[in-house]
Amino acid sequence: MTVTVRFAPSPTGRIHIGNTRTALFNWLYARKHGGRFILRFDDTDLERSRKDYADGIARDLDWLGILPDQTVAQSERFGSYDAAAARLKAAGLLYPCYETPEELERRRKIRLSRRLPPVYGREALKLTEEEKAGLEAEGRMPHWRFLLPNFADDPFATRRTEVHWDDVVRGPQTVDLASMSDPVLIRADGTYLYTLPSVVDDIDLGITHVIRGDDHVTNTGAQIALFRALGAEPPAFGHHNLLTTVSGEGLSKRTGALSIASLRESGIEPMAVASLAVLIGTSENVVAAATMEELADRFEPTATSRSAAKFDPAELSGLSRQLIQHMPYDEAARRLAALGIDGAKAEAFWNAVRGNLERLDDASIWWRIVNDKPDGEAGLSDEDRVFVREAMQHLPQEPWDGGTWRAWTDAVKAATGRKGRALFMPLRVALTGREAGPELAGLLPLLGREETLARRP
Ligand code: GLU
Repeated sequence: MTVTVRFAPSPTGRIHIGNTRTALFNWLYARKHGGRFILRFDDTDLERSRKDYADGIARDLDWLGILPDQTVAQSERFGSYDAAAARLKAAGLLYPCYETPEELERRRKIRLSRRLPPVYGREALKLTEEEKAGLEAEGRMPHWRFLLPNFADDPFATRRTEVHWDDVVRGPQTVDLASMSDPVLIRADGTYLYTLPSVVDDIDLGITHVIRGDDHVTNTGAQIALFRALGAEPPAFGHHNLLTTVSGEGLSKRTGALSIASLRESGIEPMAVASLAVLIGTSENVVAAATMEELADRFEPTATSRSAAKFDPAELSGLSRQLIQHMPYDEAARRLAALGIDGAKAEAFWNAVRGNLERLDDASIWWRIVNDKPDGEAGLSDEDRVFVREAMQHLPQEPWDGGTWRAWTDAVKAATGRKGRALFMPLRVALTGREAGPELAGLLPLLGREETLARRP
């Protein structure tokens, strides 16, 4: 069977690095197994879901290099959920309950005081048709619970019922269905909670592996029972640890600074984000992978640790710089052309500057410095100005190459006696207007003799 995974965000905000971890675990799992990746928008909450968020999420995934084979929206599939709910009701597996939250809370406290597990006692199953009709006549609308298969004949005599699965991330897992309440699948206002639509979609879309955060481990027990109740074999499951901020708080959609959109806007490389989102909280070293293929090779779900992993955005800039530093021209060419950096000099230019860039877009600053004029106001003392003028008299004849800088500065050193910083810094400032930047050995041939002379102070 073709491996088929899905990433299922709710389009009620933009995705952050934590959601990205889930998306990438799925994407890389599919890549490793020649599988398919479905983007599923969990947008049954019609009030809070927005099209612009869905579009934004698709754009963020695209930027990261995640290209779904198929995209579906739950809001278009209510018919299937209604049909599944009707089947469960007909089988007596989805039953109406009328308790208010206050009533449920009172009962919970009573159970706790009697040292009973605080799970729902299935009192609604005892209601007669007349009692239900009476409650509805009072204006109470039912919410609907799924009857967990945690008993032999009598639903009021639950017994330990273990559900097992071999988690693709965590290894063998066990959940006891008697330790949980029958989950509510449909609210009193008729809207669906996440569980039923998710299981129906996973069945209809042929999902073979559900990979998600470990906050869903307990849900998985109930969902496995729901798959079976709907006559389907459950898929495999994998639950990865969650990411937190450095101070240990959970990442929420409101953690705006860590949204993928804001990282993209700040010029961080997508593979830096992807590498950190995947490799953090695993036993692998966090080193930037240059391509998805490379990251897929390094990705080993079982190497993920159990505890939450702290995510430090400061690590991103370092990884991003590493990637830029080693990025071959071919890979950068399209993005450089978009910045107006192309033509005969472009490749040599890229090789000269890439080691000094914080962001790829900063290449345009150096393109201007090389092709137009020095940038910035770094000034020369009178003494240094005299020195640079003298140095210009020793400029080698063309053709120039990577050795020209060395030849020139050796000649200047011999003629003036200056060396070290006193020799290099005034030349750097005169040629670029800055006190720091890429190696002049690389920049000098790009400037050429005529332009270098034109920068004589
Ligand atoms: N929309 C759900 C969530 O974001 C999806 C969970 C799942 O992958 O099943 O929590």
